[in-house]
Formats: sequence, C-alpha cells, structure tokens
Amino acid sequence: MPSNDRKLEIVTAVPDRAMVIFAHPDDAEIGSGGVVARWVAAGCEVTYVLCTTGDAGTADRSLTPAALAKKRADEQRAAADFMGVKHVVMLGYPDGELEDTRAFLGDVVRAIRRYRPHTVFVHDPYRIRGFQHRDHRKAGIVTTDAVYPYARDHLHFPEQITSEGLEPHKVRELWYWGMDEPDVIVDVTESIDRQVAALVRHESQVPGFNVPPGQTIGERVKRHAAELATGYGFGYGAVFRRLVARR
Ligand SMILES: [Zn+2]
Repeated sequence: MPSNDRKLEIVTAVPDRAMVIFAHPDDAEIGSGGVVARWVAAGCEVTYVLCTTGDAGTADRSLTPAALAKKRADEQRAAADFMGVKHVVMLGYPDGELEDTRAFLGDVVRAIRRYRPHTVFVHDPYRIRGFQHRDHRKAGIVTTDAVYPYARDHLHFPEQITSEGLEPHKVRELWYWGMDEPDVIVDVTESIDRQVAALVRHESQVPGFNVPPGQTIGERVKRHAAELATGYGFGYGAVFRRLVARR
C-alpha cells in the first residue's frame, strides 16, 4: 500500500500524447483513468493498448470464452470512447497467457513507434506487496523493455522501419500504477467521476467490482483516492512511480 509518510511530487504538466498499456479490459480505467480523463480534457491525445482479450475474466460458466472476449472488447471500446481516448489497439493475446516473447515485445514497440507517446502508463511489474496477476507483470516488463531501448533504437525491429514506414521513438516518461512506493501524485478531483463512469462501462466485471456487498466500485475508488490526497490540498489523488528518460 502506498503511504503518505513522504511527500510526493505533485505533477500538473500535461503531455501532448500519452499511451496506456494494460493486460485486461478495465485495467486502464482502474490504473490511470483519473489522470487520463483529466489529460484528455486538457487536450492530450491518448492511445490505449490492450494486450489480452480478457476471455478468462468471468465467474459465469454459461459464457464461452469467445462470447466473453467479444463482450469485453465492446465494453472496452465504450469505456475508451467515453474517456475520449483517440486510438485503441487490441493485441488479442489470450487472457492468462501473456509471455515475455519477441512477438509481444515487437507488438508493443510497434504501437509506441506508431502513436509516439510522451508518457506511457503501465502496471508496475515489480510490486512485491500483495498478489498481482501474472499478465500484469508480463505487460509491465515487456512495456518497460519496449520503451527502452527497443522502440528508441532503429536497429531493434528494423523491419518496422524499413518495411512498415515507422520511425524510432523515445518515450520521455514511464508511469507505473499498482506500485509499492509512489513518487508522484496528480490531482484528479475534477476527473474522478468520469473515471468511475468509464469503469462501470465494463458491465461484465461490475459484479466483481462491487464485493464486498454494499460497496459500489465508485465508492471504493473515491475513498481510496481521497486517502491518497490527504495532506496535498485537493480532494482526490492518483499516485504512480515515475521513470524519466535522460535528455
Ligand atoms: Zn488485469
């Protein structure tokens, strides 16, 4: 759990382009939704890169994986549209089967080179306090590698440059959510209702979001964000671990 015992840097700058790379439908809204909603409102162009179909994410035994994958893709598109996300890339890997492979790395590098984000958000793969889905770790590690050095250097995946018309791209900042120790905080007071409204677009997941009984996902998200903001002079906060590339 993040603690408030040391002051985090309050980030107010908004980049021109950002990208959210995430394992399952709904992870983006949970992980970075408040900041993305705020940045979109300020003119930032945001791209989502969804790694898996989420086709294992149900307790409903009557749903086939294919039907669930279709439903979750539709839900993710609805959430992204509502958030004002400009581009949605769906890589289509099976839920629970993300691996650190050359193909997956190449897919993430391609998305970065195509949409050229200043800032990339992803799961923190190095969290050790508490359980974390394996796909989250794999997405976090592969994204970290894709940002540096693979997307940046032209001799990695050179065919993307020679035959796909892409150029190398240097991501400036990598922001991890789900970290043990955050170092930055963003005021999401104005955007948290939009984050929650996008989250509940994932209708197939809402029953799970709302356990234990009597607690809506909105109440839980807002209570947590209010705790994070304590002492910073705003109502709701979102926290991250940030890596900044050297110039
Ligand atoms: Zn997930």
